[in-house]
Amino acid sequence: MVFYGLYYWAELDNLTDLRPRGGCDDPTYPYYFKLRCGNCGEVSAKATCVSLGEVVELGRSTVNLVQKCKLCGREASIVMIPGQGTPLTIEQSQHGDRILLMVFDCRGCEPIDFAFGDGWRAESLDGTTFDIDCSEGEFADYDEKGEYPVGLGKLRPEFRVVKKQERHGKTKYV
Ligand SMILES: [Zn+2]
Repeated sequence: MVFYGLYYWAELDNLTDLRPRGGCDDPTYPYYFKLRCGNCGEVSAKATCVSLGEVVELGRSTVNLVQKCKLCGREASIVMIPGQGTPLTIEQSQHGDRILLMVFDCRGCEPIDFAFGDGWRAESLDGTTFDIDCSEGEFADYDEKGEYPVGLGKLRPEFRVVKKQERHGKTKYV
């Protein structure tokens, strides 16, 4: 098994705490990405969709996805690991920090080409909540309370191999 961390960054304009609508562990937020087969290297033609709230039985364990490679027939599976993601703040956006959103425990496959979907949320600097569809890659609106424009753009996702670390009784992936 290999752990892949999904990191993200966006340019935030008078917005902060960008995250899926129900928080980073939103059970309904759909993660779209492609799979590269760990056996033959074939990349799936269509994007796969997984969410924390959707599980399937695989033997005696529960996973979020089971998918067979169309070329070699090898079965791959993914288990999502919640509790690791944090919202992207405006300070982190300005520093260019990539923030961990979700960890995927992948067996027999590698996730690539993450695509942002609908179902995001962020607050303006005056606390106004905006629901955001990130599938367009950009967003622009106006905060009536603070009387300034808000927006986001330049969304950047990145899958990175991470290692599991136990520290002070807490599990982290870095
Ligand atoms: Zn294959």
